[in-house]
Amino acid sequence: NMSPDRPQIRQLDEAAINRIAAGEVVERPASAVKELVENAIDAGARRITVTIADGGKTLIRVADDGCGIAARDLPLALARHATSKIDGSDLLDIHTFGFRGEALPSLGAVGRLKITSRVAGAEAAEITVTGGRMSEVRPAALGPGTTVELRDLFFATPARLKFLRTDRAETQAVTDTIRRLAMTEPFITFVLKIQRDGDERETFRADAEQGELFEALSARLASVLGREFIQNAIPVEAERENLHMTGFAGLPTYSRGAAVAQHLFVNGRPVNDRMLTGALRAAYTDLLSRSRYPAAALFLNCDPHLVDVNVHPAKSEVRFRDPGAARGLIVSGLRHALAENGHRASTTVAG
Ligand code: ADP
Ligand code: MG
Repeated sequence: NMSPDRPQIRQLDEAAINRIAAGEVVERPASAVKELVENAIDAGARRITVTIADGGKTLIRVADDGCGIAARDLPLALARHATSKIDGSDLLDIHTFGFRGEALPSLGAVGRLKITSRVAGAEAAEITVTGGRMSEVRPAALGPGTTVELRDLFFATPARLKFLRTDRAETQAVTDTIRRLAMTEPFITFVLKIQRDGDERETFRADAEQGELFEALSARLASVLGREFIQNAIPVEAERENLHMTGFAGLPTYSRGAAVAQHLFVNGRPVNDRMLTGALRAAYTDLLSRSRYPAAALFLNCDPHLVDVNVHPAKSEVRFRDPGAARGLIVSGLRHALAENGHRASTTVAG
C-alpha cells in the first residue's frame, strides 16, 4: 500500500554526488583557480602560470612545473576522495593545501576538464572529463609538470552560471586569489594572463624572490601589496605557547577606512577568520579611531595539530586548539612591536 507522499530513500549516483560536492567547493571561477593553484603549490612547482578568458567562465588554465601525475594515476586523480597527500590516519597532521581529494572530481562535474601531465623521465599523458564522464588516458606532449584546463565552468548547471558576476568582477576575484597565494610562497613565480580575442595579456606577475625567507617575504609583499605598504609597516616577530607570528604591521598613520589591507595566514593558508581579525583590531584599539582599520600581513605558524583547517573546503576559517593563545599572541606581539616603534596608546590622539 504505497502512499504517494511516503518518502523513498535512494542512493545517489556518482555524477550527482560530484555535482553536489562541486556546489560546495566551486562557487565561482576564483574558487576553481584557488584549488588548481594550491594543487600546483602542493606539487612543488617553481613557476605557476594561470590563464583565464571571460573572467574564467569559458577558460581557466593552470600550468605548473611541479612533480606531475603518473599516466596510470590520472583516473585516480579524478576519483572522489582520492589523494596523495594524507593517508587518513591523522586528519590534523596536514602540511599541504589539499587533502580532501575533492577538487578535481568536482571541477570535472561542473565543466570540461582536461589534465595533461608529465612526470620527469616518463612520457606525458592526458585525460578529459566532461559533465562527470571520464575519457581514456591518451599520450600527449608536455614538459615536466601539469597543465589543468577547465573550460565552460557550470555549463552543466546553468542555474549556477546565473549567479556569476560580470567578467570584470570575476577577473578581479581571480586576481585577488592569486595575489593572496603569491604572498604565501615568495620562492614561486606566479603569472596571470588574460586571453581575449585570441590575444594574451599578462596582468599580474610576481617573480620568484631570492635569499632568506624573511627577506624574500618582504620583497614579495612589496611586489604584491606595493612598496608603500612595506615602507609604512614595521616587521613583527613574536612567539607564544608553540605559536609563532611573523610579518608586517601597518603604522597607525597608514590605516584604512575598511578592512581591505589585512592579510592573515595560518600555516601558509590565507584565512579570513573573525577571531584573528578581531585580535588584529584589538591590538590597535588605543591607536586608531573606531572607523579606521590597520593594514597588516601576518603569518601565524604552529604545529598542524594545534589548528584545525578541516572546517570547510571553500571557506577560510580555522579553529585553534587554544584560541586565547592565538589572540594573545597577535595582540601582545603587535602592541609590543608598535610600542618599540614609538606608537604607544598615550602618544596618539583618538579620532
Ligand atoms: P587533493 O589536493 O585534496 O589531494 P585534488 O582533487 O585537488 O585533491 O587532487 C587529487 C590528486 O591529484 C592530488 O592528491 C595529487 O596527487 C594530484 N594532483 C592534482 N593536481 C596536481 C598537480 N598540479 N601536480 C601534481 N599532482 C596533482
Ligand atoms: Mg587539491
